[in-house]
Amino acid sequence: MTTESSLRADIVEVGRRMYARGYTASNDGNISVRLGADRLLMTPKSVCKGFMTPDMMCITDLDGRKLQGDRDPSSEMLMHLEVYRQRPDIQAVVHAHPPIATGFAVAGIPLNRAVLAEVLTTLGSIPIAEYATPSTKELPEAVRKYVKAHDGMLLANHGALTLGTDLFSAYYKMETIEHFAKISLVARLLGNENLLAREEVARLQELRGTYGIKAPAPICHDPSAPAPIRQRVRLSTRPRAVGCDWSPTWTAGASANPMAKLKFG
Ligand SMILES: [Zn+2]
Repeated sequence: MTTESSLRADIVEVGRRMYARGYTASNDGNISVRLGADRLLMTPKSVCKGFMTPDMMCITDLDGRKLQGDRDPSSEMLMHLEVYRQRPDIQAVVHAHPPIATGFAVAGIPLNRAVLAEVLTTLGSIPIAEYATPSTKELPEAVRKYVKAHDGMLLANHGALTLGTDLFSAYYKMETIEHFAKISLVARLLGNENLLAREEVARLQELRGTYGIKAPAPICHDPSAPAPIRQRVRLSTRPRAVGCDWSPTWTAGASANPMAKLKFG
């Protein structure tokens, strides 16, 4: 099987899994992957991701011009192009509307609490990109602020976006976000979240290297939670971003700062 034919098959499989798991409904969502230095292979617009065939995919250049395919490329192509422009290390992009994570995006609550080791080592904090009308040029502008430092983010009142070094790593990050959102929702319904200590988060940061994940930059100091090893967060405590704002200096390095907005115990 050629590289192109295997990538077409992988997009079909990722789309099938997204639809089967309820991450998309109807024709929602889109998937793309680099096909060489200056071409992308992408899902077409207006198809259900659960029932695609390899021949449906479009090939475009990095400016979005269609080079091959009977159908038009995804309506969210501009957002995908922005990711590839900003992140030369990224090979694949997945966008979906997983319902629990999207619920957090609708509620305006980022997934930025340090509670699960596997999330901290793969994604760090998961911010919310500001709302922009889907399929317009405003949406890539909204994700631009976060995409250099985060491999996964929520899109306000819309869905989620994940990036990876191959199609399945981008897809698995979407699974991780939705799984994390479910667990966070249950913990909050139960009325309590025990946050991991800052020291443990630092240790998990160091482990990223052993998993082949680029080590993030140092964590910002959080003046709102300086002392306790563990901190109980009650339902009545409205989620807040930590005291350090996202810093434009992080944009110097891809994946540099996924920990920047974490809340610690
Ligand atoms: Zn969407």
